Amino acid sequence: MTKPAPIGVFISEEQIQTRVKELAGMINRDFQGQDVVVVGVLNGSFIFCADLVRHIQTPVNIEFVSLSSYEGTNSSGEVAFRMDVKQSLEGKNVIVVEDIVDTGLTISFLLKHMKLKNVKSLKLCSLLRKKARLKVDVPIDYLGFDIEDKFVIGYGLDFDGRYRELPYIGVYGE
Ligand code: 5GP
Repeated sequence: MTKPAPIGVFISEEQIQTRVKELAGMINRDFQGQDVVVVGVLNGSFIFCADLVRHIQTPVNIEFVSLSSYEGTNSSGEVAFRMDVKQSLEGKNVIVVEDIVDTGLTISFLLKHMKLKNVKSLKLCSLLRKKARLKVDVPIDYLGFDIEDKFVIGYGLDFDGRYRELPYIGVYGE
């Protein structure tokens, strides 16, 4: 098996871990003593989600959804459901956890869908946002980092299925 070429560090493991703890701290303050359902968006958010929930101190239930919207390095703009949550979200505090908000089309599709489920509250937590690329306004309640318009990989983010396992975030091709 060929090892992928080493990719330079854009956001270090330490920076990520510090920020993840800070985001969890904000969630802990906002939802102290209340149950929350964390809905991770597969596949990209699986590592972020796993790290985040381990710092959440309020009772947490974890679900995942799967959407399709991205091919290679070009956003197609078309979003479809592959897998929805398995429990009723009615009356629950829901926190959607995303890896990256790029154009915002994927997450606004998901948030619209989540609002139809009569949730008690709906928050969005995203590790990354590419502000310059936004096509729709998406308010992010808990944001890790604003980044430039670069294609990033690592810490759950892939390029054609590779590099998700990297503990840091790198820029593909740099
Ligand atoms: P949006 O609908 O906001 O344009 O795209 C969001 C999805 O596109 C993310 O959940 C992610 O799967 C993918 N995506 C957007 N930008 C990047 C990037 O820089 N790197 C990777 N690996 N995926 C990205």
